[in-house]
Amino acid sequence: MFPRAINFHLLRACNARCHYCFARFRETPNRLPTVLAIEVMRRVREAGGEKMNFVGGEPTLHPDIERLVVAARELGFTTSIVSNGARLEKLLASPGGKLLDWVGLSVDSATDAGNTLVGRGGPGYTAQVVAHAQRARANGAAVKLNTVVTQHNVNEDMHSLVLAIRPQRWKVFQVLRVEGQNEDTVADLLVDAAAFAAFVARHDSLFDAGVAVVAEDNGAMTDSYAMVDPMGRFFGNSGGVHCVGQYILEVGAEAALASVGFSNQRLLARGGEYAWARGERQSAQGEA
Ligand code: SF4
Repeated sequence: MFPRAINFHLLRACNARCHYCFARFRETPNRLPTVLAIEVMRRVREAGGEKMNFVGGEPTLHPDIERLVVAARELGFTTSIVSNGARLEKLLASPGGKLLDWVGLSVDSATDAGNTLVGRGGPGYTAQVVAHAQRARANGAAVKLNTVVTQHNVNEDMHSLVLAIRPQRWKVFQVLRVEGQNEDTVADLLVDAAAFAAFVARHDSLFDAGVAVVAEDNGAMTDSYAMVDPMGRFFGNSGGVHCVGQYILEVGAEAALASVGFSNQRLLARGGEYAWARGERQSAQGEA
């Protein structure tokens, strides 16, 4: 079965230098021209994709990110982005940016010092995340936070930040080693399953505050994401390495997906399908 949720890694460029980054795409220096990226989305939509999540690198650095969001919406996708905030303010202020149904914000600590330590942020980063969340909500988008648990934050209590934002979802990932992406910088950041579980358990009370905490350990993250690289190829991550498949524009979305190890059962098992459409989400929350 074709996955309903797709992650499109639009480009490798990024303004941040997260030490654990598993999306460096050294093997993919180029990206598709915008018109072909839109064609990739069309093929994916025809195959059954329903939610298009723009990721990177840093997707707001794509010169045509607004156009891509508009195109995704015109194709009938629920639209989503995960950003470190680089050019997010500009995007959210644009007509296309207002079509984003979900805005995911990457943040690895409740403090600027913590975000700096892991290479993600700098002074003002945490306040910027809060401000972006407010702007996204003003546009009618749902807000998601993404946090990678490493040796730097595994003992941290992030309640203050998460409660200040109250995202619809907080995704918490166990830092993952991926050969060819981060093996030279990740070794000192790795945390074991017990330490990761303790971080998640420390934040249990957020469920009572209405925040869906979605925790994914290394096993849950393996081959459970339908990921498209900047050249329009699906790729998997079994065996701790990116396995790049065939070009969607050459063989079609279904055959290209079949050329990698992705498993829709694994996507479903990690809770990768939920009420993401705007109307569906609002009814689930009693907003409409
Ligand atoms: S913001 Fe994302 S793409 Fe950029 S370095 Fe950090 S993890 Fe990698």
